[in-house]
Order: sequence, then C-alpha cells, then structure tokens
Amino acid sequence: MIAMDNGPDFPKLEPAPHPFAGTPCERLRAVQARIAHAATDAGRDAATVRLLAASKTFDAATVRAMAACGQQAFGENYLQEALDKQAALRDLRLVWHFIGPIQSNKTRAIAENFSWVHSVDRLKIAERLSAQRPSGLPPLQVCIELNVSGEASKGGVAVAELPALAKAVSKLPGLQLRGLMAIPAPATELAAQRAAFRQVREAYEALIARGHVLDTLSMGMSADIEAAILEGATIVRIGTALFGERIKNA
Ligand SMILES: *Cc1c(COP(=O)(O)O)cnc(C)c1O
Repeated sequence: MIAMDNGPDFPKLEPAPHPFAGTPCERLRAVQARIAHAATDAGRDAATVRLLAASKTFDAATVRAMAACGQQAFGENYLQEALDKQAALRDLRLVWHFIGPIQSNKTRAIAENFSWVHSVDRLKIAERLSAQRPSGLPPLQVCIELNVSGEASKGGVAVAELPALAKAVSKLPGLQLRGLMAIPAPATELAAQRAAFRQVREAYEALIARGHVLDTLSMGMSADIEAAILEGATIVRIGTALFGERIKNA
C-alpha cells in the first residue's frame, strides 16, 4: 500500500476506537487481561481475583451475550430490574449478587433470589435478610459495605461502627459474613485510589484479627481495578468496561 497524506480528497481519519469497541467476548477478555496484569504487578495469583459483571441498566439479552463468553457472576442494583432479568435467564446457571442500596421492603425478594449481597450496612437489614432467607438455600453470602470516604450521603457503615455491626451480622444464622465492600469517592490518581482501598483492607484485617473468618474484599470498578487489586481486592465489580456507558445515570 502506498502511503499518502491526508489531503482534501481523502476522508478524515476515523477517531480512535471507543474503549468499549469490540464484541462482548473481546471486552470480557480485555477486562480479564487487566485483572491478570494488575495481579501480576501485585505479586498475586490472578485466580484470587474474581470478576463480577455489574449489569445494571443493561437488558437480559446483553447479559446473555456476556454469559455466552463464559461470565457467570452478575451484580445488580435494582430489585425489579434484576428479577425481570433473572426470569428471562433462568435457563442459564448464573450467580446473582445484589450490590445496590437495600430498602427494608425489598429484603424478602433479595433473600429469596440472590446468592450474595454486598451492600449490607445496617443491622436491621441484615436481620431481615437472615430471617427471610429460605431454609432450603445455603446461607446468603454477605459483605458489609464500608464508607471510607466519610460522605454522609453515601451508603456504607462508618469505620468506627464496623466492628459492632460485623459481630452482630456474623451471628445471624441465615447469613455468612464473607468480608467488606466499598465504593470510595472517585479519584483519578493511582495513589489516591490506593489510599482509599487501603483503608478498606486495614478494616478487613482488623476484623480478621478480632477472630472473624473472612475471604472477600469487594472493591474496584472500571476506573480503579488496578488500585483495588494492588490493595487486595478479591472481587472486582465491573460495569462500564464490559458493557459500555450506561444511558441512565446509575
Ligand atoms: C455500577 C456499579 C459498579 C460498576 O461500575 P463501573 O464504573 O461501571 O465499572 C460497581 N459497583 C457498584 C456497587 C455499582 O453500582
């Protein structure tokens, strides 16, 4: 091919591909590669970091396409939307995680229809989830959501209140406390991202030192996967990098 300059007779060069270009499987492999690369940087085995696909606002067909690429675990934030998708995808063996804020009138359906809940931040909600977990199912796997940014408007228990909540949650028969989840305030610098995740890890290690048996740090989203993995994340919750930008601001 002959190189030519971009004169007036030639079409403008296409803009750089959108980061979400590619097929669902290509996007999944790209995220898995980011995870593997970050794990290597952290001196960790990539198998210790699990990918949760955060599929809120994306429809059942989109989830089905991602499942066909091998992704099994999906995280949802809105109960009714999640129940509709679950109904449409019953033929697949997906594992559903609830990752959104929880109102008390939603606990029964959450307890009945999810394997995991990442967003427990009040004892009352934990007690309801435990009492409403059907006895034929294994205990609901839960993380306590920790608020490390100190933003009063955000969900999550304050660091100072975490030990008492963890103690109470760990005694509930319908739940198995697995660890902590956090959504720190967005930061662009790796160092700032790491500092927030480090606080979550330190709170987690403090619980382990108090005798809790925990194995899950649910932290890291599309913009901060690397920082989260460097600080010990065992589940990263990824939406945008897998599915593209959400239309709704959710
Ligand atoms: C939407 C959402 C995510 C995914 O965020 P992205 O930045 O799109 O990767 C992760 N965790 C929670 C709790 C979410 O609500």
